[in-house]
Amino acid sequence: MTYAREIHSHGISHIDEEGNMHYDDGRVWNHGVCINSIVSGCHNPVDWQTGGTSYCRKCAAEYDAECEAERKRDQFDRMIADSMSMGLIPRAVANYRERGLYHWQSNALNELRANRDRCAWLQDIPGAGKSEVGIILVHTALRYGVPAAFVDCAGTGFQDVMRQHNTRTALERVKLLVLDDISKMTVTDYAAGELHNVLTARNQAKLRTVVIDEKTGNEFAKMLASKTDGRFGNSVVDRLNWKGGQCVAIAMQGENIRRK
Ligand SMILES: [Zn+2]
Repeated sequence: MTYAREIHSHGISHIDEEGNMHYDDGRVWNHGVCINSIVSGCHNPVDWQTGGTSYCRKCAAEYDAECEAERKRDQFDRMIADSMSMGLIPRAVANYRERGLYHWQSNALNELRANRDRCAWLQDIPGAGKSEVGIILVHTALRYGVPAAFVDCAGTGFQDVMRQHNTRTALERVKLLVLDDISKMTVTDYAAGELHNVLTARNQAKLRTVVIDEKTGNEFAKMLASKTDGRFGNSVVDRLNWKGGQCVAIAMQGENIRRK
């Protein structure tokens, strides 16, 4: 039997009698040897079972892993794009790139990760980098395909997302919700009521909410009560607890890194 054939396409000139494939540029892919022999110098024999007709077992596995990694990247990109278009994450989460953290940020992150089944209230002074901790939590969740949202509550930030029906529904259902700068929100009866509603829905479904603020939970509850004539307050913050899952209070105790 002879393999000899003229090809003259895709950069391949011909196949010789032994089945070796000759490229126009002079390279030769020897019959039965991994295709990577002409790319990266692999000299393993083709594994006809796992490598198809081209790859050795090792290169076939690497190729599969690359495809899988690419699929995951695509999935992550899509999740980021969808979350952005729904108003569930700000650009800071979408564009987050890993960088070195201050030790207090790492400690807070570890504590949050160690208590992933509970809500948390992360408190620290302004400028200590606590928002970044929340950004990392949400970014990581999305990378693992876990629906998550990050709301910058300052000003009308919270009300603005709650006024959009689909976004509001999503905020009640995502596995992880980070509420940043909650005490900086403009407190109206509407905003306080919606905060109460979304936290109630999440409480009933035992979905994790992480609040990040310069006030403690108690301080925020008092502020909320004073601004709503006592209609809202402790009951809102209490929604972060459920049976078997007390909210974890974390005092980050960082330094102001913005002034450095
Ligand atoms: Zn190979």
